[in-house]
Amino acid sequence: MKNQTKIWLSSPHMGGNEQHYVDEAFKTNWIAPLGPNVNLFEEAIQKYVSNEVHVAALSAGTAAIHLALEILGVQSGDEVLCQSFTFSASANPIRYLGATPIFIDSERDTWNISPKLLEEAILDRIEKGRKPKAIIAVHLYGMPYKIAEINALSKAYNIPVIEDSAEALGSSVNGINCSSFGDIGILSFNGNKIITTSGGGALVTKKNEYKNKAVFLATQARDDAPHYQHSNVGYNYRMSNVLAGIGRGQMEVLDDRVAARRANFEYYKEELGHLKEIEFLNEPSGFFSNRWLSCILTESYEKREQIRYALLEHNIESRPLWKPMHLQPIFENFPNYSDGTSDDLFKRGLCLPSGSNLTKSDLERIVHIIHKEYTS
Ligand SMILES: *Cc1c(COP(=O)(O)O)cnc(C)c1O
Repeated sequence: MKNQTKIWLSSPHMGGNEQHYVDEAFKTNWIAPLGPNVNLFEEAIQKYVSNEVHVAALSAGTAAIHLALEILGVQSGDEVLCQSFTFSASANPIRYLGATPIFIDSERDTWNISPKLLEEAILDRIEKGRKPKAIIAVHLYGMPYKIAEINALSKAYNIPVIEDSAEALGSSVNGINCSSFGDIGILSFNGNKIITTSGGGALVTKKNEYKNKAVFLATQARDDAPHYQHSNVGYNYRMSNVLAGIGRGQMEVLDDRVAARRANFEYYKEELGHLKEIEFLNEPSGFFSNRWLSCILTESYEKREQIRYALLEHNIESRPLWKPMHLQPIFENFPNYSDGTSDDLFKRGLCLPSGSNLTKSDLERIVHIIHKEYTS
């Protein structure tokens, strides 16, 4: 069975013009972390997301979260509320700054940060005299979190939101694009994301001053002087002009990529939806997910593993859902507000191959194997 071609979970998918824009960088010798591709890539993201946002292209989504926290004034010893059910890159930058993550569990409708637990946590931290400095909410697997509820809490308690949209470029709520809802949004263009620059990210914000601060900090925080003078600690976080060329090409095909990923999900749902043991995550009304990864919940941990191994046997990569941060060795000693939801999702959930470059026969192969686990 191993001789069948490998099916990856989520692999890069070039559109065609990427090489051309990269060549442009070479021809003009803009092999630098600045240049026309960077500006044009930022413009393309802005055009796509919203006329109201400003965009800073950076070296990674993780770098964007780090800068967002710093721009919002998070310092050593501060507390930051963070969705527990996510990839570790959402939370690591809190530790870069010496701040303390406080993890919040998910709710069932979107698998994202629970407004109820978030409010409980805010009240409890305030009572302890430790009002949190920021909220990191995540649109996991492309499904938007409950924007209205989270923004209402942010406003009521005056705590800014960092909107981790690393997995959600192309997702929206009531026609408004993800990454434009928070005080600061972040995007990722890592190799496995819906579009990629091989590695990269962006900070997205309606406040021009935040964008300018991000660019300043990302380019070594140089003061306005003829010599190199610094009154802030800076970083080297700007995106390379070569990689931004890949990004320009990818933005041209983003809508196709979203359509292809959504079609994968629809196929899985159509072919597996009749199995009463398998659950899918549906879009609440007004929510539009880019379906970055198609996920299923099985009836048990054992069954999830059985399916994962069966796929592996046939050279097909699948992956358990993200292990919640409050269960991670590096984070388990930080406070968390949990009701068991993400523990359960982690136990029973599986991400199926979801690339926009999967073929019909790839999908048939996958579904056939899962079917067999339920019928034989
Ligand atoms: C990928 C990802 C990040 C980090 O982005 P990088 O570009 O890989 O640094 C952050 N948060 C989430 C939810 C992600 O999936």
